[in-house]
Amino acid sequence: MSLVVQKFGGTSVGDAERIRAVADHVARTRRRGDDVVVVVSAMGKTTDDLLRLATDVSPVQPPRELDMLLTAGERVSMALFVMALSGQGVDAVSFTGSQAGIITDTAHGRAKIVEVRGDRLRDALAAGRVPVVAGFQGVSTDRDVTTLGRGGSDTTAVALAASLGAEVCEIYTDVSGVFSADPRIVPEARRLARVSFEEMLDIAASGGRVLALRSVEFARNHHVPLHVRSSFTWEPGTWVVEEDPSMEQAVVTAVTHDTSEAKVTVTGVPDEPGIAARLFRALADRHVNVDTIVQNVSVHGTTDISFTVPKDDLGPSLEVARALLPEIGAGEVLADDGIAKVSLVGAGMRTHPGVSATMFETLATHGINIEMISTSTIRLSCVVRADRVEEAVRALHEAFELSA
Ligand code: ADP
Ligand code: ASP
Ligand code: MG
Repeated sequence: MSLVVQKFGGTSVGDAERIRAVADHVARTRRRGDDVVVVVSAMGKTTDDLLRLATDVSPVQPPRELDMLLTAGERVSMALFVMALSGQGVDAVSFTGSQAGIITDTAHGRAKIVEVRGDRLRDALAAGRVPVVAGFQGVSTDRDVTTLGRGGSDTTAVALAASLGAEVCEIYTDVSGVFSADPRIVPEARRLARVSFEEMLDIAASGGRVLALRSVEFARNHHVPLHVRSSFTWEPGTWVVEEDPSMEQAVVTAVTHDTSEAKVTVTGVPDEPGIAARLFRALADRHVNVDTIVQNVSVHGTTDISFTVPKDDLGPSLEVARALLPEIGAGEVLADDGIAKVSLVGAGMRTHPGVSATMFETLATHGINIEMISTSTIRLSCVVRADRVEEAVRALHEAFELSA
């Protein structure tokens, strides 16, 4: 007998019929003799609907209240899920994040888990019951309800798997695994049977939203094997595991894209020491997560600095940069939310030259202009116009022959 954590995303529990079908799968896992801890997301698009409702009610949304609102979505799912299990004769009990002992810091909307006290879950398991935990939420060290950022139920599942010593954390979703590109954009994308934590981190960080980035970091740090699979077909999916050094590494494993960022440009920046330091320190102090940064060499003593930030952080970023203009003697601050990023991820890129040349040539052939470029050891990213990004993904997927 082993312990399995099974996490079901929004589409997987989208309506009553889906909840019953998924509960049936949990019941079968139990009958096979395994212990199960279930983690559920809010039903369907509930989280988006609640966010829209908040915006309709008021432009002012205190972060604490927004978290109170959003955590309600997962609470609905967990109670319905336990009812469905009870209807199938499975003894189950629901827990909010707080009741499950998920302790976070106080950063509402993007809280980090600092500790998991799983006592109540262990007691429930010992009593032969199936604990059903509301994903995406915890309780802060100040005793307020918090959320873990969009997609955060994945992180809940992995944190519980690590804390309870589960054999595997199964992430059930609406696609049958991790693909060589988003299968909604590239229908011929190939499902990866295995992917290393290292590559999965870069896939998640560059827009492959099938797993939340934090959940992959957590799984790697705590050695939790992840199995991403479909709650519609139940077929075996993708294993995210430690790298096997004997495996031949693909040059390019996946093409990803991200439309969640915006670009900020500060023009006429004096080319002297300390300017970038002041700008990015001020952004860091407002907790803005800066991604790609580009600064040109100056010709006449001034230059432009461009950087990308999550769209949600655009307002604070503009405020910070504009407030600094007089102090750093720069020209103006421009915002652009019509950008997107397309990336190649592959561990073999380290040892294979020429990947960037092929990427740039492919985009050029399609007349897609590259506005920014950034590289890491196993990732190559280009910022392009948002309305061209899907075409870019398809073209690169074909150029690197990633289809099945
Ligand atoms: P859930 O609600 O189950 O958490 P998400 O919508 O968060 O589901 O994640 C699943 C979605 O991720 C898929 O429907 C797919 O469109 C998208 N996706 C993006 N990139 C990839 C990829 N490389 N492989 C698989 N799915 C991907
Ligand atoms: N319901 C939350 C979201 O939509 C968390 C999750 O689904 O993982 O982001
Ligand atoms: Mg998700």
